[in-house]
Amino acid sequence: MQDPLLQLEVLITEEELQERVLALGRQISEDYEGEHLHLVCILNGAWVFLADLVRHLHLDTSIDFMTVSSYSSEIESTGSVRIVKELDSNIQGLHVLVVEDICDTGLTLDYLRRKLERKGPKSLAVVTLLSKLKRRLKKVDVKYIGFEIPDQFVVGYGLDYQQRFLNLPSISTMSAL
Ligand code: 5GP
Repeated sequence: MQDPLLQLEVLITEEELQERVLALGRQISEDYEGEHLHLVCILNGAWVFLADLVRHLHLDTSIDFMTVSSYSSEIESTGSVRIVKELDSNIQGLHVLVVEDICDTGLTLDYLRRKLERKGPKSLAVVTLLSKLKRRLKKVDVKYIGFEIPDQFVVGYGLDYQQRFLNLPSISTMSAL
């Protein structure tokens, strides 16, 4: 895991993550009590978050996955959003909760929201583990936010840099030396 050219510094510990995800799970379970909730996990980054979150939901749930293009191997966003894998399910008439790893510029969630709205869900809301409010280019309606973080590139807990570091149990800032 050591790389002499990259510096990682823990920003959110494993304990802090687990505590916050539990709290989010409780809040979401309360808000959707008695309802069926369809989770839409945005790949590649959100699967670790989803795996923990779903185990704290005391609800009848179903899950689908969408893959969208993100920064891939780069640190800066290109600003263009592309669907790589569409939903397999029909979300018409369902309470849908989009599960995202991080809301940065907001371009991805803005695009996804408009695309999913057109499919006629009963309701559509978003939970993101992380948010970088300072970087927002699009105002997006995010119902649940795990942590507001500074404008720094982060890895761990599903978030990668060139496919690396996504297995770290904490969230770290990454900078080049
Ligand atoms: P947005 O469209 O909001 O600018 O960016 C959304 C996507 O960019 C996220 O789903 C994520 O894949 C990627 N992204 C944004 N900030 C970071 C970051 O700090 N670290 C990593 N690994 N990915 C990021």
